[in-house]
Amino acid sequence: MGALNTNAWHCRNGDCQADEFENASNCPEDCADKGTTVMAYYTQGMVCEPTTIHEPDTVSELQQTIRTIVSSGKRVKPAGSSHSATSIICGDGDAEVVRSKNLKDIGPIEPFESHSATVEFEAGVEMDELGEHLHQQGYAWGLAATGYGGISIGGAVATGAHGSSRNGSATISNYVVGLDVIGADGDLTTYTEASTGQSDPNLWKALKANLGLLGYVARIRLKLEPQFRMNVQVLTMDEATFVADGGVEAAVGQCDYVFLSWYPVMIWCTTFAVIAPPTRSPAQPPKTVYSHRTSVV
Ligand SMILES: Cc1cc2nc3c(=O)[nH]c(=O)nc-3n(C[C@H](O)[C@H](O)[C@H](O)COP(=O)(O)OP(=O)(O)OC[C@H]3O[C@@H](n4cnc5c(N)ncnc54)[C@H](O)[C@@H]3O)c2cc1C
Repeated sequence: MGALNTNAWHCRNGDCQADEFENASNCPEDCADKGTTVMAYYTQGMVCEPTTIHEPDTVSELQQTIRTIVSSGKRVKPAGSSHSATSIICGDGDAEVVRSKNLKDIGPIEPFESHSATVEFEAGVEMDELGEHLHQQGYAWGLAATGYGGISIGGAVATGAHGSSRNGSATISNYVVGLDVIGADGDLTTYTEASTGQSDPNLWKALKANLGLLGYVARIRLKLEPQFRMNVQVLTMDEATFVADGGVEAAVGQCDYVFLSWYPVMIWCTTFAVIAPPTRSPAQPPKTVYSHRTSVV
């Protein structure tokens, strides 16, 4: 069910106002049952048909939930924070949704396979939550931070979510070195870079951008690097200059991470440019220096 909201003045005030012609279709934020309805962050973009929504507290409870759903003849639809703006957040007609929102455990920083520093955590941990946790211990995962940090990392890995870098990898899937995945039988299998990545490289690649189609990702292990400092500059330029031949290169070619705001009506752009040289240390005296966390905004 797609919903187009025309009640701009009173929709999203927390009150379903039938006298203002609000209903679950034109104002799902106020009128749809949140206990049974999965809605995208941009609710006008996608609201799913009502179904049963499960929110297990532990991985073993998650396994049992999956077994119960499958044995009742239904399918399992994994859900993270439901920030994806398309129908991939919805199950089909005979699916029940299982949200990862209560799966929040984060393990210690430890060596794993060939990597000196990794961390394993449950799929419901959000980008900002892991970033803050790692920040306390002086670690980061490169420039793979998404523009918005309130998404589950299970969902981010499933969709190949990414930061924005011209100079290196900014996809969180590239930092994945281990996955615990629950199948339709409720059993958990561990896949890792050194085992699955060698024995079945195509499966390993597919698991790292799985779209929720290869089982329920219960835990994720990421490789880490020491936290580093960034030189952050905010630039403003007119649109014609930016889109002209060579304009993008001239504006952000030296940047490791770019956040672009484009205002077409005003015909100018703001780039939020992060310069983190390969040495991962400040280059020139920066205008502003932030200590790196998962999100730069
Ligand atoms: C304001 C905003 C800003 C954004 N910025 C960026 C950005 O900068 N870069 C970028 O790349 N993307 C961005 N996105 C898109 C976002 O990263 C993706 O939509 C991401 O998938 C959202 O994660 P989620 O937890 O909400 O997943 P959901 O939307 O809940 O799920 C997405 C898919 O992953 C599957 N899934 C979720 N959890 C699991 C699990 N544990 N096991 C197996 N499958 C699972 C679901 O079944 C579904 O198919 C943005 C979205 C919004 C709304």
